[in-house]
Amino acid sequence: MKSHNSTPAGAAGPIRIVNGRIHDPANGIDGAVRDLCVESGRIVESAPVGARRIDAAGMVIMPGGVDIHCHIAGPKVNLARKLQPEDHRRDPHPGTLYTRSGTGGTVPSTFATGYRYASLGYTTAMEAAVPPIGARHTLEELHDTPVIDKGFYVLLGNNIFLQRLLKEGRRDEFRQAVAWWVNSTKAYATKLVNPGGDEPWKGKRNANVSDIDETNEVFGISPRQIIDAFVDAVHEMRLPHPPHIHCNNLGHSGNYATTLETMKTAGDRRLHIAHIQFHSYGGQPGKSPSSAAQPIVEYVNAHPNITCDVGQVMFGKSTIMTADAPLAYMLRNLKKNKWVNADTECESGCGIVPFSYQEKIYVHALQWAIGLELFLMSADPWRIILSTDHPNGGSFLSYPKLIRLLMDREFRKEEIKRVHKKAISRTVLADLDREYTLNEIAIISRAGPARALGLRNKGHLGPGADADITVYDDDADRERMFNAPRYVVKSGRVVIDDHEFREDFSGRLLHIAPEYDATIVQTVRPFFEDYYSIEFDNYAVGDSFLHDHEVIPSRPA
Ligand SMILES: [Zn+2]
Repeated sequence: MKSHNSTPAGAAGPIRIVNGRIHDPANGIDGAVRDLCVESGRIVESAPVGARRIDAAGMVIMPGGVDIHCHIAGPKVNLARKLQPEDHRRDPHPGTLYTRSGTGGTVPSTFATGYRYASLGYTTAMEAAVPPIGARHTLEELHDTPVIDKGFYVLLGNNIFLQRLLKEGRRDEFRQAVAWWVNSTKAYATKLVNPGGDEPWKGKRNANVSDIDETNEVFGISPRQIIDAFVDAVHEMRLPHPPHIHCNNLGHSGNYATTLETMKTAGDRRLHIAHIQFHSYGGQPGKSPSSAAQPIVEYVNAHPNITCDVGQVMFGKSTIMTADAPLAYMLRNLKKNKWVNADTECESGCGIVPFSYQEKIYVHALQWAIGLELFLMSADPWRIILSTDHPNGGSFLSYPKLIRLLMDREFRKEEIKRVHKKAISRTVLADLDREYTLNEIAIISRAGPARALGLRNKGHLGPGADADITVYDDDADRERMFNAPRYVVKSGRVVIDDHEFREDFSGRLLHIAPEYDATIVQTVRPFFEDYYSIEFDNYAVGDSFLHDHEVIPSRPA
C-alpha cells in the first residue's frame, strides 16, 4: 500500500510564482500582476534565491477554495455510500503513482473526495452535520480525506439534554454544556437542523414542528427559543463561526416566512443560514411553490450580521442526505427508489434519498432558478457563499458549471431555454443580466467563506496566510477553466503540477476548543448513564486521538 501520509507541511522548498494575475479580494488585489512567494507552508514577502520559479503568464491566481457547507464524512455519508453501490461501479476513481484509488458518484470515498476537491482548486472543506456520538468516526474519515484541510459542525439543535436545560431556564449551564459538547467532539462550529422538530417526530410522525413559534410536544419549547439560545451562547463565547442553521420547514412552499423569522431571531448577532435556496419558497403549504428569493435577498442585503450559503440545485444525480429526518421521510416516495431513515440516540435523526434534478420538472427548475436569483440579486458577495449543499443540490464537481452560469450571461440564457418554461416565468431570472467577475468568484468561493468561518489564514494571499493557492489557465470558457487548475499548492506543496498530481498530502483538522466550567461534566454524566448506549467516559474524544490539527482561536473581543 502506498504511503498516504506524506511529509508534513513546510518541508517543501520555497516557491516564487511570477507573471500571474492575482485575485485576492481580502487584500484589495483585483487582477494585478505581481510575484507571489511561499516558504515553510506560508505566503511570505519574498522567497530566497534558488526558490522554485513558476511562470504563471496568462494565468489567474486565487487562494485555494473553501467549501463552507458540504457532506463528506460521518455516519450519514457512510449510510449513503452503502445505499448506492451502483454509484461506485459507474464511477471508479483510479489511483496514480502519487494518489490512492477510490470510488466516485455523488458520495465519493474519502480518498476520491480529497483528490477531487483538490482537482478543482479547493483546499478546505467543512462537513456540515455530524451527531456528537459520530464524532470519533468522522474524525477518522476526515483524516483519511487527503490534501484538504477540514473540520465539521456538530449537531446540537435536537439534543435532548440541551433542550431540557433550556426548558428549565438553566441558560448558564446550557452555555457550559454547549462548550463541553463542542470541545468533546473536536468540532468547528455548532449546527442546528430543523431545531426542535426531529426529536418529537421520532416518537410520533405528525409531531414535527411547522412553525418557528410552535412549542414541540416533547420539551415544551419552540424552535425560536432554541435558536435564540444558541445565537446567544455562541455570541458570548465569541466562537469563530456563528450558529450554522438549517431552518425549519426546508423544502415546503411558503417557508421563506420561517427563514425570515429565523434571521430576525438573531437581531444584530451573527448567524449563518445554510443552503438558503431550499428556504426561499413562496406559495401556500401543500401547494405548488413559487420564488421568494426577493424578500430573502432584501433581508440578507440589509443585515450585515447574516451570512448564508446558497445550496444551488444543479441538474442531474444528487443524494439527499440530511439530519432533517422528517424531510427525508416526506421525500421517500418521490423517486420510487430506495431510502433510509436512521435514528441517532438522544441527539439527532437522519435520512437518505437518492435523487435526480431534472430540467423539465417544474419544482426542480424553480429551485435551480431561485438559487441563481439569490446569487444574482445579492448586493454583497462576501455574505452569499457558493455551495450546492453537496451532494444534496448536486455534487461539488458541478461548481465549475455553476461558476460559468454566474459569469457568462449568454451561456445562462441558453441553459434557461432548456428548462421548464412556467417555472422560469415565475422568477425574474431571465431579466437578470449580471455577470460575476473573477474577483467576485474569488469572494464567494474563497475570501467570503474564510471570513464567515473566522479562518484568518485562509481565503487570502497576504503574508502569513496558509500557502493554499490555485493557478488557473485564463480560459473564456469558465467551466473548463475552473475544472482543471494548472497548479494547486497546499500548505506550500505543489500537489498538482502542470495539471497532474505530483504528490500526496494529508491536510489538517480544523477545530475549536471553547473553555467551559468543569463542573458541567457532573451535570451531564447522569443523563448518559440513564439514556445512552455508551459509557460517558467513552464518549468524549481525547486529544490523543487527533492527528495533524489546528485549534482556531475565538474572535477577538
Ligand atoms: Zn447540508
